[in-house]
Parts: sequence; C-alpha cells; structure tokens
Amino acid sequence: MVGYQMDAAVEKALAEFSLPEDLGFAKVAAPVMFEAEYRDGSWHSGVLKPFGEIRVYPNARSLQFSEVVFEGMKAYRYRSAPPHLFRPIDHWKRLNGSAERLGMPAPSLDLFLGGISAVVSACSEFIPQDDEAFLYLRPFVMSCEPGYSVVNSAHYRFYVVASPSGPYLSGEMRAQIERQDVRAARGGTGTAKTGGNYAAALRATSKAVQNGYSIALWLDPVDRLNIEEFSGMNVFAVIEGALHTPSLTDSILAGITRDSVIRLARHLEIEVVERIIPVNELLENIDSGRCKEVFATGTAAILSSVGEIGDHDGRVYRLPSCDVADKLRSELVLIQTRNGTDPFGWTQDVNQ
Ligand SMILES: *Cc1c(COP(=O)(O)O)cnc(C)c1O
Repeated sequence: MVGYQMDAAVEKALAEFSLPEDLGFAKVAAPVMFEAEYRDGSWHSGVLKPFGEIRVYPNARSLQFSEVVFEGMKAYRYRSAPPHLFRPIDHWKRLNGSAERLGMPAPSLDLFLGGISAVVSACSEFIPQDDEAFLYLRPFVMSCEPGYSVVNSAHYRFYVVASPSGPYLSGEMRAQIERQDVRAARGGTGTAKTGGNYAAALRATSKAVQNGYSIALWLDPVDRLNIEEFSGMNVFAVIEGALHTPSLTDSILAGITRDSVIRLARHLEIEVVERIIPVNELLENIDSGRCKEVFATGTAAILSSVGEIGDHDGRVYRLPSCDVADKLRSELVLIQTRNGTDPFGWTQDVNQ
C-alpha cells in the first residue's frame, strides 16, 4: 500500500480536532480528506489535506451536469483493534460501474484503497468505538472542467471525505408510494450512484415528508405498477416467511447491503425470492396479513423497518412486525463489526 505523507497542515488539523459528544450520522466532518487529480489521460498520486472548502469553477461540469459519482461506505474500530472496512472492493467495483455509465474515469483499486486507508489511518483515533458507531466514508469523483459542451471532461478529481458517526437510528420508517414522479428511467442512470438520481428524487421525498412520511417508495418508470426501491435504500417484504425483493433492473441501484442481506438470509436458510413485485399485490398481501413486514436496506441504516406504507388515495397500510429485519440486522452487524464470524470474507483490514 502506498503511504501518504502527512504535512504540517495535516498534522495541525489532526491535532486541533476533538470528537464531539453528540455525533449523529455524518454531521461532523473528519479533519482530513484525500484528493487526487486526473489530468492528461491518467490519475496522479494523491495527497492528504486538511478537510476544507475545495476550489472549482462555477461552470464546472460536476455542478452544471452532475458529472459526479460517489460511494457511501463504513470503517469500524472496536476494542482498540486496527480499523477495518466492509466490502471495500465491492464498493470500488460499483464506483467503476457508476463512472463507466457516465463515461468518466474511475480510480484504480490501489488509488481507491490508498485514499481510503490514508484517511482512515489518519483518523483512526477519531473512530468512535461505541456499539454500532463508525467512520462514514464518502469517496467520489467529480469533473472540475469548466464549460457547457455535452461531452466528458479531461479534468477530474477523486476525493475521500469522512465523518465519525454514532449509531444510525432511523426509527420506524413511514413510506409513501410515489405515483407521479420517477427516480430513474429505463436505460438511464438508475444503476449509477450519481447526483442526478438524487435530484430527481428530491421533490417526491419532500412531499412525503410534508405528509408526515419519512421516505418515498418508487415504482418502475414505465408502467408505475411494480415496486423498485426507496430513495437511497433497497426494499424487502417478508411474505409468509420468505424474503421478497424486486429483481434488479436498470432503474434500481444494486445495494451492497441488499446483496449482503440476500446472501446472509440464504445462509440462515431463509428463502429469498427476487422477482417483479406489483405494488397492488404487495398492498393486498399486507391487507390479508400474508405480509406483516417490510424493511429497507442501505449502508447508513443497515436494515430499517417500515411501519406504515401510505398510498395516494389516503389509505395507510400498517406493518405489525419487524422480527425478520431485527434478526437479519443483528446477524449482519455481528459480521460488520467483527463481533461474530464472517463466513463470507466481507471485512478487510485497512492497511492490507
Ligand atoms: C446507495 C444506494 C442504495 C443502497 O446501497 P448500499 O450499497 O446498500 O448502501 C440504494 N439505493 C440508492 C438509490 C442508492 O444510492
């Protein structure tokens, strides 16, 4: 692994930082960040810097055209052991896929892991060790080239920024079915982790929040008949003891937590069915009591139970149980935090 030097400014930023009592989720910025440049057709070695504002032209294409892709991942540190990561290579692969969809260059695995290791190692004493606390990592690639022509850029930067975070408690979520807007189109960028998808989701989410819900449940963009995912999280329903989740389409983001839950559930001999799930069928199954449980999966909250689903006609469907979600969540947390065995080889030391 390439070592990144700490200059005096980085040493000073680290020395001046202290961990606040109340961390919340990704509210506090870690004192350092990693930055590498792509110029003249290749990536150049990066540097650790104090966390702070970055300079880009106001007409940079990342700002004007959302020419930006990102990841969200976690580093953990418990019982004074060195920090470790959860499925970092899968996050790198997905960043590559997202970049590829947008025609952008992605960092090599060495540069990606090097940047992450540099930040995590420098911040290792600021990774809270309480139960389920973590260092949230946000690696991203953005275009820094100014201009309005609709072609890919020649100048990009790769950053890793981080946030020491306390346990993410989403509470019980209330989801509102979105019947008007769509998040991502067929053949669009729904499989890429990129800002534009989030921009498309903002109005529906704000509307849901105004109506007393916490999140929007998206339907497929063509017929708006089948459930796809939440904004930023994938969806599972427990129907008569089996886990059902929408099969991946090109308008669904393939969550790493989704994949982990599917593999872990099969390992625990819970049946998993990936299929097209019509929203009306799901609602009928909740009405008849065949489906008592729906949950969301994503890196931040891991697994989060949905207590109610509201429809546009004002009907509210109540989900009385969270047993399967609780069980899968605690099993997954044991693996992620290295408090249990990891039969899948999902965790990895930082300085490997
Ligand atoms: C990141 C993301 C998810 C969840 O992915 P994880 O890898 O589990 O964190 C789901 N949907 C969307 C739209 C996302 O951006």
